[in-house]
Amino acid sequence: MYRTHTCGELRKEHSGNTVSLAGWVQRVRDLGNLVFIDLRDRYGITQLFFDTNSPLAEQAKQLGREYVLQVTGLVRERSSKNAQMETGDVELKVEVLNILNESKTPPFTIEEETDGGDDLRMKYRYLDLRRSIVNKNLLHRHRVAKAVREYMDGQGFADVETPFLIKSTPEGARDFVVPSRLNQGQFYALPQSPQTFKQLLMVAGFDRYYQITRCFRDEDLRADRQPEFTQIDCEMAFVEQEDVLQMFEGMVKHVFKKVRGIELGDFPRMSYADCLKYYGNDKPDLRFGMKLIELNDLVKGKSFKVFDDAEYVVGIVAEGYSEYTRKQTDELTEWVKRPQIGAGGLVFIKCNSDGSFKSSVDKFYSEDDLKNIAAICKAKAGDLILILSGGLSKTRKAMSELRLEMGARLGLRKVEDYKPLWVVDFPLLEWDEEDKRWNAMHHPFTSWKKEDNELINTNPGAVRANAYDVVINGVELSSGSIRIHNRAQQEKMFSLLGLTDEETQYKFGFILNAFEYGAPPHGGIAFGFDRFCSIVISNLDYIRDFIAFPKNNSGRDMMLDAPSDIDSRLKKELGL
Ligand code: ASP
Repeated sequence: MYRTHTCGELRKEHSGNTVSLAGWVQRVRDLGNLVFIDLRDRYGITQLFFDTNSPLAEQAKQLGREYVLQVTGLVRERSSKNAQMETGDVELKVEVLNILNESKTPPFTIEEETDGGDDLRMKYRYLDLRRSIVNKNLLHRHRVAKAVREYMDGQGFADVETPFLIKSTPEGARDFVVPSRLNQGQFYALPQSPQTFKQLLMVAGFDRYYQITRCFRDEDLRADRQPEFTQIDCEMAFVEQEDVLQMFEGMVKHVFKKVRGIELGDFPRMSYADCLKYYGNDKPDLRFGMKLIELNDLVKGKSFKVFDDAEYVVGIVAEGYSEYTRKQTDELTEWVKRPQIGAGGLVFIKCNSDGSFKSSVDKFYSEDDLKNIAAICKAKAGDLILILSGGLSKTRKAMSELRLEMGARLGLRKVEDYKPLWVVDFPLLEWDEEDKRWNAMHHPFTSWKKEDNELINTNPGAVRANAYDVVINGVELSSGSIRIHNRAQQEKMFSLLGLTDEETQYKFGFILNAFEYGAPPHGGIAFGFDRFCSIVISNLDYIRDFIAFPKNNSGRDMMLDAPSDIDSRLKKELGL
């Protein structure tokens, strides 16, 4: 037996017991006549003590960081206790020392705060994962998965696996493809999601399906994206939108309760249109107000050309910020002008504490004009109004970024707050200006609202989908929809998307055929599991910390050095 206890387990009550531990050397402290070693495993750190009179002390002094040890000895209460450590009341007086393996000096320090840069830590991910701060996240991930499975199981969902080598199912991203050796010149695609399979499982009568499964999307990488990521993928038969919302609101609440002990209240619901109107995007952070206020009617016709020419003029109020200095407003103006935000400029109205107003456009607007704007914005003395203008969608987007930035600067995006919501009534389609055609906003299997049946022929852009997203603190955690389950309607959808009958048959014949054999009404949802973990555990949107072996920002695995060239013989066999 390598060990009787873990390095996180010993307490005062164990004093006097003879125990064995196994783990890695975190630190050797050689105090001349005394030698201490911190021994670490996944569970914690225990202090080992070597008596100078013991021949083991000399050996202990030679040990390097990350050596793997097995030790046996007597647990005793420490004379100077360490309240910071869970095992800080005791130490192990070592009587038997067994070096199980040596270690080279690690390329960075294996501590909470490390000196290793991102790429170096990714190259030696197995060492980075020894850091408790990193491995804790993965252990938390396990707990989230467990809570999800517990809930789903309790609700009668069956976990069914679906294939990875499939034919491409479009979800808006590029497919990763795998060349087939047995069918040269042909390719499998890796699933962007199990969307069509879960629908086929409903046709097959599974009724309630879920899977925590990997999805693959060949997208341009951003900080919060990985080419492979995990979804909690779910589908239900004989449901309407309301059934799905209730079921999965329950799941999110269960996970927060189980993993964090947090009771989330009922999720408010907001239409896509209202999200855009009041928050400028479809995933509002509701931890703070600072709603967008349209000012078109108030500001136009005062000879200020920038506003007169603008399709949309919008303001937000930064409470208590009227004292912003010139330097600060200049800096904020530069901030909104950065290409990522893309605003042309920023207009300020300071609502001074004495009731007067000062703006960056005083030339065009009288004190009364400013007062009216402040009244519409419900700005009080001491507040600062920030105004952007330009084309509608671009300006909304810029204002939503500015709102988030101001929310952060004002300390309103609190890490202990969770504000979930359902976003509903998404448009079914969005216009692709480049290709001059409609795209499905969710995916082509999403159904539309019965009330909008007429519009599908007359004004497709106004048709609302039976689609819904869960958003928490400005992060989109999941999206789903009630599906089309009838061949004619699905064909109609494909033709709206500009697919010819041949293309439709070639790409989607299998699901259209299935719809002719008694497909039940069905709908579902998928949660980004990595992101869900990141939000539940740290309230940050940083999925990499919750993936054991993530890729870097250029989609490379630094440890494996992948992607890489392949053997020329393999290439030949594949006909590449
Ligand atoms: N398959 C969809 C996605 O990956 C989710 C769903 O509609 O269930 O976003």
